Amino acid sequence: MPTLLERFLAYVRIDTQADEHSRSSPSTPGQLDLSRLLARECREMGLVDVTLGEQGVVMATLPATVPWAAPTIAWVAHVDTSPETSGRDVKPIVHADYRGGDIPLPGDPTKVIRAPETPELACLVGCTIVTSDGTTLLGADDKAGVAVIMAAAERLRTRREIPHGPIRLVFTCDEEVGRGTEHVDLGGIGAVVAYTLDGGGAGEINAETFSADLAVVTVTGVNTHPSVGKGVIVNAVKILAEFLAGLPQDRLSPETTCGREGFIHPYAVSGGVASAEARFILRDFEEEGLVAQAARLESIAARLRAAHPKARIDVATSPQYRNMRDGVAREPRAVRLAEEAMRQAGLEPRLEPIRGGTDGSLLTSLGLPTPNLSTGEHSPHSPLEWTCLEEMETAVEVLVKLAGLWGRERVGGAGEG
Ligand SMILES: [Zn+2]
Repeated sequence: MPTLLERFLAYVRIDTQADEHSRSSPSTPGQLDLSRLLARECREMGLVDVTLGEQGVVMATLPATVPWAAPTIAWVAHVDTSPETSGRDVKPIVHADYRGGDIPLPGDPTKVIRAPETPELACLVGCTIVTSDGTTLLGADDKAGVAVIMAAAERLRTRREIPHGPIRLVFTCDEEVGRGTEHVDLGGIGAVVAYTLDGGGAGEINAETFSADLAVVTVTGVNTHPSVGKGVIVNAVKILAEFLAGLPQDRLSPETTCGREGFIHPYAVSGGVASAEARFILRDFEEEGLVAQAARLESIAARLRAAHPKARIDVATSPQYRNMRDGVAREPRAVRLAEEAMRQAGLEPRLEPIRGGTDGSLLTSLGLPTPNLSTGEHSPHSPLEWTCLEEMETAVEVLVKLAGLWGRERVGGAGEG
């Protein structure tokens, strides 16, 4: 059986970058390649009920080792990587016995993981750090989670003395483009609680996430040959630039906020004179915050409509996911047992709100409480992304302990089963 590191290195070498413009499921064929590999590995490991859906979702069951009816729990990770940075031809580099200081990435001299900007590194001297070569992302988001889940399942499979209930493994596609749970059948998971393994560093539990909307601003102008453009051209590119300049410069952006503050983040523009489009993510821990952000975009649009009556300016928002806080609280054991598992694994757990969403945000809203656990991710979505093997190993240990703790519980209370 491969080691945790071998698994991780194999998974990151498969290009699974998601494509938000694709309408197919999964959005890119590489995701299916990884899903097929995982389904095969699950079978080889002796897991049962292994299924690979047409849309790339893999599910498998690690059967219970306890004789009573312990609740079924699920471990979830996503196989896709972010569209923001290339995931093609990832060349992972293993920096064994990290000596401290900056980590230059050999594929691109401009890409250096700077120690002063990456304070977490200071605690990891002597550890094994894995990076890309700087030309792509690494894909630890979320292949660290995939590898951790597979390694934990294998550990429980080979050490059958650890008592645990049924555990469902779930690997999803297209989480990074907000479609992670589109083809996940909650009844098919059949668990009372799920955990996504998609968190930063070690020892964190996220039971609260942003609420999130997508906004698309479309400016429709008028184009003709510039030689006869006088009085005719209405330049959508310039009007869109005005729109973007109308956003606050010193606040309400990811680059100027932290903690519990929300933001409006334009992340892509495209188009030409006749029509131009900007895409925004809206993020806030409270839904009222999202409403206010959409109103702000609408008020910029109203001002520009008055200034440019021949242009058409549309603002369309759509929901992406919602804060999981209330849904997770409905199963108090979800967080309590995760905290206990971390303590058993030698960590002091920290409950942190996550400035993002996970597959768990959507699963929780569908009725399956799904907090998120640390799995050694750092600087996701970027060429400077890295992970720490020891943090991943700790995450495996946390899952093994968590399995044991849930294995002591009973479906419907003691005495049944
Ligand atoms: Zn992720």
